[in-house]
Amino acid sequence: MPKLSGRTRGRPTVRNVFSRCPHCDWIARVASRKSITATYDELFYECRNFDCGHRWKAALSFVHTLAPSATPKPGLDLPVYTRPAGPPRPANDPGGPEVPRPANDDVTRASATG
Ligand SMILES: [Zn+2]
Repeated sequence: MPKLSGRTRGRPTVRNVFSRCPHCDWIARVASRKSITATYDELFYECRNFDCGHRWKAALSFVHTLAPSATPKPGLDLPVYTRPAGPPRPANDPGGPEVPRPANDDVTRASATG
């Protein structure tokens, strides 16, 4: 399992997951991290503003799978995101009910009379 502290070949690690201090809006870094479960971590942040000094605990939680793992862990059952029901629509389709044609629409009349 890869180590989560320090840089690992340029990949992001938990220590360079920055946030903003809610008090002074400066950058805050993760000072330490505690894994509670496979899908829930506690992160301990430190504000980088020396004059502020705010420290706090935050949570990092798994929400759902977007693409399945090629190396799934046996016994780990995670929720998978599913798209809302209904057929996909083109981006320029405003949706909603079909707009009725006006009474003087020649195309409709011509097809109705044969
Ligand atoms: Zn601060």
